[in-house]
Formats: sequence, structure tokens, C-alpha cells
Amino acid sequence: MVEDEVKMAALVRRGLSEDGHSVDVAANGEEGLVMAGSTEYDAIVLDVMLPGIDGFEVCRRLRRERVWAPVLMLTARDAVEDRIAGLDTGADDYLIKPFSFAELLARLRALARRGPVEHPPVLEVGPLRLDPASHRVWRGEREIHLSTKEFTLLEIFMRRPGQVLSRFDLLEHAWDYAYENRSNVIDVYVRYLREKVDRPFRVSSIETVRGAGYRLRIDGGR
Ligand code: CA
Repeated sequence: MVEDEVKMAALVRRGLSEDGHSVDVAANGEEGLVMAGSTEYDAIVLDVMLPGIDGFEVCRRLRRERVWAPVLMLTARDAVEDRIAGLDTGADDYLIKPFSFAELLARLRALARRGPVEHPPVLEVGPLRLDPASHRVWRGEREIHLSTKEFTLLEIFMRRPGQVLSRFDLLEHAWDYAYENRSNVIDVYVRYLREKVDRPFRVSSIETVRGAGYRLRIDGGR
């Protein structure tokens, strides 16, 4: 459990212990990250309001560091944006404070049953990272700014690394029917993408497969 309010943390810990669980408490996000990185927890209860980095950022970093334990987020406000933000950062469920202990238990049980999340919210192919929620892309530590269409196209590639995608496949996923017979639009956008995602880094990640289409290298380009 990551929670800075001592009384709250103690209460939840006692309740969970009585139900047969063992609980570690981290008083802030940094501590929580260190603990989650060194121990394989069945579930993480994460408060949004924390000193230093908040719960959203903690969740984002957990997923980036490939910690896939189910995360139940505690949010103080019943704000829709908070819930969406929480789920977008990779949380699996949320609970609004104040909550009933019985509900916390029930949700934790459901999450633990489900096991670690299967789909990382941030796509990674080698050094390429793409966050569908925030519409951001990075190669290594450097952020790359893409237009909406370029982003859509890269996302399609990153969801199918190593697969050959025909111009038709790409058109179908990224463009509406008006472009049906204009497959050269794909060639144009692949060129734009290469200009931003590959060329400045002197690598090649999007390969042309003659007569078939394009393929994103599994290693993200080198
Ligand atoms: Ca708190």
C-alpha cells in the first residue's frame, strides 16, 4: 500500500492482515516504486494524493519499469477526469475515498484473481516507446513530435512489430474510405515517419518489403 496518511495506512493494513494478507506500507511514491521493484506483490493499493510524485506518476513509472502487479487506485475526488487519468496510466481499478473496507477487500480479491495486467498501456518496441493515452512518442530518452496521422500510423506498426503490413492494411486502419484507392498516401506518410522516427537517430526501423508493404523491425531499428 502506498499511502502517506499514517492513520489510513494503519487501518487498511490491520484490516487486510485480519483477512489473512500481508501488507507493506510505503509512505510516498518513491518508496513505493523501490518496494514494488524489489518484491513481487499480488496487488498494489495506490493513493493518488501523495507528497512528491503523485499516484498517477507512480503508476506510470511502475508500468514503465515493467511492474505489472494489479493496481487499485484510491482517489479522494469523485472526478471523472481523475478516474480516466488513473486508468490511462495503467491502473486496473479505482476506489473513491471514503470507501468501505468490505469493498476494498472485494476489489482486491478480484484484482489478485485476475493476476498481472497483460497489456502494457505504453507500447515498446526496442528503444521506441509510444503512449496511446498521452499521444507521446520517444526514441530512447528523446521525445519525438508527430502529427496525428503519423502517430496513428506508428501506433499500428508498434502494435504489430515484425509483421509485414500491406498498404491496404495500413490504409484500412488509419484512413477512412475516401482514401480507399490511394495507397500512395501510405508511402508518403511512411516517408514522413522515417524522417522523424529514424533519420535524426541514424537508424532504420521501418523496412520496405518489396511487393508486400512495410514492417517495423522488432528491435525498433538500429
Ligand atoms: Ca494520501
